[in-house]
Amino acid sequence: MSIVLTVAELTDLVAEVLVRHGLARDSARCVAGVVAAAERDGSRSHGLFRLPGYVATLKSGWIDGNARPVVTEVAPGVVAVDAANGFAQPALAAGSPLLIAKARSQGIAAMAIRNSHHFAALWPDVEPFAEAGFVALACVNARSRVAPWGATRKFLGTNPMAFACPRDGAPPLVWDQASSVIAQGEVLLAARDGHDLPDGVGLDAAGQATNDPRAVLDGGAMLPFGGHKGSGIAFMVEILAAAVTGGRFGFEDGSAAFPGAQTSNAGECVILIDPARAGGTDVGSRIAGLFEGFAAAGVSRLPGDARYARRSRSIAEGVSIPAETYETVQRLLAG
Ligand code: NDP
Repeated sequence: MSIVLTVAELTDLVAEVLVRHGLARDSARCVAGVVAAAERDGSRSHGLFRLPGYVATLKSGWIDGNARPVVTEVAPGVVAVDAANGFAQPALAAGSPLLIAKARSQGIAAMAIRNSHHFAALWPDVEPFAEAGFVALACVNARSRVAPWGATRKFLGTNPMAFACPRDGAPPLVWDQASSVIAQGEVLLAARDGHDLPDGVGLDAAGQATNDPRAVLDGGAMLPFGGHKGSGIAFMVEILAAAVTGGRFGFEDGSAAFPGAQTSNAGECVILIDPARAGGTDVGSRIAGLFEGFAAAGVSRLPGDARYARRSRSIAEGVSIPAETYETVQRLLAG
């Protein structure tokens, strides 16, 4: 059994749940937009599955539901946003017009968001910039869950990054991935559903390899993708998202003092390049040609293809929500 809603109905429903639990209405619309978009695109680990975590975090007092982001023009090429201990999405929305103006006038600009909580997929943060013609990179750090290469305990976050670029004749090419082998949401889903994890994903509390998702969650650690190379990417994200922005490192997170809190108070760095100002000509058509080359080389699926296919289906037929998930949302709405 499932319930079918339009994307607009789903966004309204999620926003009402968040408002009910103390998030200001304009911020709730921003956050609900990314939750509904994840559900629409089938990014299930960051859709409605996360809604109880948003609510628990709001109830815990760890995040300020009435936070007002403060945007500051700190340098010709840099916009700083203090999210004021609120969610990252309203901070991103508040800083984006100035970021775009700077990138258009100078060819490159960065947005440094700090004091922010990001609990969503990262692709919604970059895709709109590529739709506007920019090449965009975003990095977010998070509380400790991943053992750096060579470590036996968690220290870095799952530290996602997303990249988007325009291409002619198709929606932007977007990839979005955690720096861990799999995202923490997948470990939570495996624990909930009683599935083993694949080899090479996690360590238990003693620092030994394990396939048990509960052992990873209960004092263990996740592993970075690609061994020492992924570990380097993970600390690069930590530095861009926290050191560069003035945000907290993952190991400085204080959420443990707020029972129920599931988000990290951390940072996000977004970098935009306007290819037309950087010497690139016919960039959309050249990128499209690059991926035609991928297809000729035998690639049948590019990053984002699966999401875009699910998006088309959801827009045509509505977003299908399992009855059990819908009941959970209704319970949250009731209080
Ligand atoms: P995945 O490994 O599922 O996917 C990573 C990327 O690879 C996606 O762009 C995906 O495209 C693409 N991809 C997947 N399979 C293939 C394939 N066979 N061929 C080509 N491309 C492929 O992502 P993760 O598990 O690493 O991360 C999941 C989500 O978790 C992300 O959205 C991330 O932002 C989020 N996250 C958020 C955190 C936070 O603190 N807010 C922390 C960590 C992760 P497609 O989209 O089409 O599947």
